[in-house]
Amino acid sequence: MTASFPTALPRPVLALHGGAGTIRRDSMSAEMEASYRAALKVILADGAERLSRGDAAMDVAVEAVRRLEECELFNAGKGAVYTADERHELDASVMDGRDRSAGAVAGVTRVRNPVLAARAVMAHSGHVMLIGPAAEAFAFEQGLERVEPTWFGTPQRLAQLRKAQASAMGQVLDHDGQQAVAGGPIDEKTKFGTVGAVVRDAAGHLAAATSTGGMTNKRPGRVGDSPILGAGCYADDRSVAVSCTGTGEAFIRAAAAHEVGALMRIGGMSLAEAASRVVFEELPPVGGDGGLIAVDALGNVWLGFNTEGMYRGWVEAGGAPVVGVYRDE
Ligand code: ASP
Repeated sequence: MTASFPTALPRPVLALHGGAGTIRRDSMSAEMEASYRAALKVILADGAERLSRGDAAMDVAVEAVRRLEECELFNAGKGAVYTADERHELDASVMDGRDRSAGAVAGVTRVRNPVLAARAVMAHSGHVMLIGPAAEAFAFEQGLERVEPTWFGTPQRLAQLRKAQASAMGQVLDHDGQQAVAGGPIDEKTKFGTVGAVVRDAAGHLAAATSTGGMTNKRPGRVGDSPILGAGCYADDRSVAVSCTGTGEAFIRAAAAHEVGALMRIGGMSLAEAASRVVFEELPPVGGDGGLIAVDALGNVWLGFNTEGMYRGWVEAGGAPVVGVYRDE
């Protein structure tokens, strides 16, 4: 389901997501739902203020994602999901629509805010992507904060891992043993989570940022779409800024974020047409469950997903935040 917010006037705007998946009213307490909505609203309100005072798209996107990483409700930074061997491997990326400069890190375990590391890679490394311990060493050289690898964990995420592993064992008894032995995701629909932001600033520039702990019970070393530019994150002033969430392997295969831009820039589609095409027609055939948020050069916003829900919201400079969780809102 989608929500599209077209406008006649170019405007500064920020949209966020906190992950898509099986998010239903009957599986969430009122209290939990209120905490998600409140967290999104606070971060959106801060972004709206930054946009009003003329901050650059990249600054607003990175700060929004950094704050989502700090919030343990979301699967990025603190509160990241566990790998099959009970660790955390974090991925993040950023892209600046002005010149398509970009940065990404994958498989980091000790950098408190992976999105800041991605930005540092873009700004100071001369490369686009660094991985693992070398990415961490670079981040620390750049003065970023180091935490213990266990810092990211929470009891809720550990319980989620145990549940995923128990269901994996169930499948060993059934007929999907290979996947279970490999520690692969079992119920794809319940284990999403990633955070992202897309921004169009007052100067008309676009930026996108995405950060994730990946998928619960993932194989160590597995990297999804979130740090892959063109898959989970993309920004180009000529078309759109996009941040995705969902089954990463499929989003990589569909080049999902870039596809939205290509359908607009080369295919002549509007933002809503291009984004709907990717979420509802391009992703499902390759097993892509999830959604994306996007903003175009005029400040039109699109937030949509093919799952039951997606934590999401948007705000324009000087406006009030709008947030959503379920499909029917
Ligand atoms: N796309 C992320 C990944 O595959 C997970 C998610 O969005 O939930 O790592």
